[in-house]
Amino acid sequence: FFITMEGTDGSGKTTQIELLARYLDEKGIKNLVTREPGGTRIGDRIREILLEKEYTEMRGETEVLLYAASRAQHVAQVILPALKEGYTVLCDRFVDASIAYQGEGRGIDADRIVGINEIATMGLKPHLTILLDIDPRTGLKRKRNKQNRDRMEKEEIEFYDRVRRGYLKLAEREPERIKKVDASRDEAAVHSEIVIIIENLFKR
Ligand code: ATP
Ligand code: C5P
Ligand code: MG
Repeated sequence: FFITMEGTDGSGKTTQIELLARYLDEKGIKNLVTREPGGTRIGDRIREILLEKEYTEMRGETEVLLYAASRAQHVAQVILPALKEGYTVLCDRFVDASIAYQGEGRGIDADRIVGINEIATMGLKPHLTILLDIDPRTGLKRKRNKQNRDRMEKEEIEFYDRVRRGYLKLAEREPERIKKVDASRDEAAVHSEIVIIIENLFKR
């Protein structure tokens, strides 16, 4: 299976993907954790460009294309080969993030983003997407303790409100694939709900 974790900044994606990987390990299900932007050496360099604090002139269109470029490399080099070998792939962000951040967040036409990403993913779609839904204020507060300094830090809260709305719209449109989880609760509570969703997927 190909499973993606989505949500606004600090919603707990990385935390929950690690907990889920440990759960799958214990069940003897071989899995691979990966993330984007990044996940390959080319993708990691694209990530550096995307997050460089000084590149304040970056256009939304440039973002769309750089995320897609990173994704193209990631899909071909990491995700597809792992799926072929029978791994369950857990990916921290994917196409939905582009639709939410660059589409809803920066106002770029969603259909165009989908089109560009069909090229990047060669048509690969997640079997399941966990959407960690939270008030972005809570998420950003959580992150602030981590104090990573990048270009995204300059965004105002309204940007993240739009991103959240973008994700929720996607979840309404594709309720079979995208499962919304209330991410404002503690780590263990969120993890338990994700485990139930995963168990249902493996029963299919
Ligand atoms: P980013 O979008 O920046 O990658 P993320 O969605 O991956 O963020 P995490 O890095 O997992 O989020 O979590 C952000 C911070 O919040 C971390 O310091 C983490 O320990 C903490 N955290 C994660 N889950 C919870 C939770 N349920 N309650 C409180 N704090 C949490
Ligand atoms: O999830 P991760 O911490 O790796 O994301 C890095 C940064 O890139 C975050 O601040 C996130 O808001 C931003 N991002 C974005 N558009 C995407 C994916 C991530 O602006 N499509
Ligand atoms: Mg993360």
